[in-house]
Amino acid sequence: MELKLYDTLTREKRVFAPIDPQRVRMYVCGPTVYDFAHIGNARPAIVFDVLFRLLRHLAKQGVWDGGKGETAVTYVRNITDVDDKINARAAEEYPDLPLNEAIRKVTEKTDRQFHEDVAALGCLPPTVEPRATEHIAEMRMLIERLVEESHAYVAEDNVLFSVSSMPDYSKLSKRPLDEMIAGARVDVAPYKRDPMDFVLWKPSKPGEPAWPSPCGIAAPGRPGWHIECSAMSWKHLGEIFDIHGGGIDLVFPHHENEIAQSRCAFHTPVMANYWMHNGFLQVEGEKMSKSLGNFVTIHELLADWPGEVIRFNMLRTHYRQPIDWTTRGLEESEKTIDHWYEIVGDMALHADAHPDPVVLQTLCDDLNTPGTLTRLHAIAGEIRGPASGLRQIELKRRFKASAEFLGLLEATRGAYLEGHPRRKRIDRTIDHTRINALVEARTIARAAKNFAESDRIRNELAAMGVVLKDTKDGTTWEIAR
Ligand code: AMP
Ligand code: ZN
Repeated sequence: MELKLYDTLTREKRVFAPIDPQRVRMYVCGPTVYDFAHIGNARPAIVFDVLFRLLRHLAKQGVWDGGKGETAVTYVRNITDVDDKINARAAEEYPDLPLNEAIRKVTEKTDRQFHEDVAALGCLPPTVEPRATEHIAEMRMLIERLVEESHAYVAEDNVLFSVSSMPDYSKLSKRPLDEMIAGARVDVAPYKRDPMDFVLWKPSKPGEPAWPSPCGIAAPGRPGWHIECSAMSWKHLGEIFDIHGGGIDLVFPHHENEIAQSRCAFHTPVMANYWMHNGFLQVEGEKMSKSLGNFVTIHELLADWPGEVIRFNMLRTHYRQPIDWTTRGLEESEKTIDHWYEIVGDMALHADAHPDPVVLQTLCDDLNTPGTLTRLHAIAGEIRGPASGLRQIELKRRFKASAEFLGLLEATRGAYLEGHPRRKRIDRTIDHTRINALVEARTIARAAKNFAESDRIRNELAAMGVVLKDTKDGTTWEIAR
């Protein structure tokens, strides 16, 4: 089996071959932890989780050379815990605490919430989750190297990367030079030699998080965002690795700048062999934003929908396409997952149950998840069909193993229904409306002295567990305990 992945850098789909088959290495830019993660942030988490699962499977199958099995895949997803947005949030939320303490509170809380959220969406923990603040030493080393080699310079206690020192700059984003310059000119610091130069290190204001600065700068400072990922990927994956991922919004400037820093520091022809970017997600046809009031957090969605429904809904669109996230889509996804749980019930899988080969092949074609779901629909259809006995069981096993491969149908049906927040809510509201209507119908029947009908309704309600009490003021009801 061959895995093909689309590479943003070369704009082509290529057969994936790891640099070291014993150790497949993937880095994905993770969240900046200052607020609840929104459903857009869930997209890279889910997409690269599917890729992680697929890479582990292929490694275990010995597709590359037998290697070390599934432990041969190292998936690194960082946590950005130093950032202006974090500082601002901390000052706003805990005005009475010293800033550093407030920052710790914000990042710890947000980090915990993020992990709960993505776990509920069926995402496996990455192999390593490095935090920026624990890699300051590596960042300083990289920065000093870049300055020594004239790829960066010190200016007024800042260190800046000199974009003109790298002829290959903008190969990933293919931005025309004049566009980049125009963009950079919006806010040019006077100490920049060129408006496009970007910050590697900057001085901290009093009270802000601060570390000893590199390059002999006396004032304590903090890193720029881009250098964080160059340092963490270097530390955990080396100078060159296989896959670098993130959302399409990160191509420029974040990934372009990561490439500039890492390649210039290590004198390498590439930073990663495959650059993968998920498309953007919008909500009900509009860009998600706080001001439009359509900012949807994963946490809120989980209060209404099971994590698997959210995950399924995400996988219905190919990762490179934009997604329009709608309630309608979620309702459709819910129907499918409900139905699929009916089909497989509480079936436990044997260790030898394998995913369907067509599902795997489809996934190997640049993570074609909509294709795999179409295939699962087809198998579900076969299961409902005339197949009997062993064939039925075989189909169900293959179906369940394939769904689990995608991180779906991982619970028992009972646990799924139990943890189905929306169903519970709907059941409650339907019950109320229905019961009230029946009680009213019975009152009308009684008034018309149609006792056969009123008894029938009383029995129907009793079967639903509803006990009636007739008083002189009318009929009340309660659920029998
Ligand atoms: P951030 O915390 O904003 O740095 O984002 C974390 C990850 O979520 C990055 O990989 C972003 O590219 C991705 N991301 C943010 N917003 C969206 C969105 N609306 N659609 C898809 N991906 C997004
Ligand atoms: Zn990054």
